[in-house]
Amino acid sequence: MKITEIDNILAEIEAKYEYRKITDYKMVSSTTCIDRDGLEYGVLCSNNYLGFTHALEVHDGNLDGILYGTGSGSSRLISGSSFELSDFEKEIAGFKGAEDAIVFNTGYMANLGVLYALAGKDDVIFSDSLNHASIIDGCRISRAKVVVYDHSNMADLENKLMSTEVGNDSQRFIVSDGVFSMDGDIAKLPELVALKEKYNACLIIDDAHALGVIGEHGGGTADYYEIDPKRIDIQIGTMSKALGAEGGFAASTHSIVEYLRNRSRPFIFSTALPPGVARAAYTSLQLLKEDPKFYLSRLWSNARYMRRNLIELGLTVIDGETPIIPIVMGDSAKALEFAEKCRDRGVLVYAIRPPAVPEGTSRIRVTVTAAHSKAELDSYLADIKEVIKEL
Ligand SMILES: *Cc1c(COP(=O)(O)O)cnc(C)c1O
Repeated sequence: MKITEIDNILAEIEAKYEYRKITDYKMVSSTTCIDRDGLEYGVLCSNNYLGFTHALEVHDGNLDGILYGTGSGSSRLISGSSFELSDFEKEIAGFKGAEDAIVFNTGYMANLGVLYALAGKDDVIFSDSLNHASIIDGCRISRAKVVVYDHSNMADLENKLMSTEVGNDSQRFIVSDGVFSMDGDIAKLPELVALKEKYNACLIIDDAHALGVIGEHGGGTADYYEIDPKRIDIQIGTMSKALGAEGGFAASTHSIVEYLRNRSRPFIFSTALPPGVARAAYTSLQLLKEDPKFYLSRLWSNARYMRRNLIELGLTVIDGETPIIPIVMGDSAKALEFAEKCRDRGVLVYAIRPPAVPEGTSRIRVTVTAAHSKAELDSYLADIKEVIKEL
């Protein structure tokens, strides 16, 4: 690509209804925001599943941490770690049922950091076709051979495990989202664990949308299936969704985590998260641990309520049980128009278009949180009903 061609390329993107513009919003609560003109919107597109971004306890945690610096000053291998980050690692490891955990600056960097450090050019990564972009990029940067299997198709995965040659000193990896970020469906963990054990593979599950969302304790995919989490070799997660802060982590055995501390470039060569952010995530985790039922029952009941009502409005909703509710639109122009009309009525939903999803499968993604009241959901549903009429 020549950079002199960029304006033409942008015009092509716009012609395909795939141009993205960033709008400024001030989040005045965990479910509402205002734009620069002071107009208010209901937010149905955030991953702030438990509303922790605006919880007073979490703010207090954040401020406690800020006392020790708004920034951390350097990589933890150079100037040491804040207490807050190391404390979070201990807590999250325990919560995920793992021996140890390592924090990266984002969930994106966690996937990059794990795959880059552990997989090399003689290894093979078996990757679900709908895995998150950060897994795809992690696969690329690792230089391992990548074998993509059909989405959640365990027969296809087993065929590919059987038919792909792996050298004696090489490792097979199986990597999958726990909850798929675009369709909101849940990975078939029992089968993935059985296959990883049968074929001696290293299983990596990315629970970015699962932590604080599924499982009786909000523990994620292993919790949901009541499977011993130690049967997953590496559990990836983010502090930026249900935990309402920022950052990512990998929870695993002591040795794998120590190896990552020594060899993972995204961990080593980036300044650590500030203590306030770590303390905010830590506080969110404490709140969730203290009363999982309080948060999760609201989240799940809101998700069921929204799903049922969207279907009743005649929309094609992809079946599922998570708070990620995809509404199939097909073409990008249609998805974009739907989202814009919702916005005109003060409701923010997200139009997902290529390259995030395959051509022709554009959709509206609605996400609900535990912080939404039934009254809020009803008012958004009434707006969506009007939008459907208009179209
Ligand atoms: C959001 C997401 C990430 C990235 O996490 P960030 O903390 O936002 O960088 C990684 N994996 C999946 C599956 C995600 O949905």
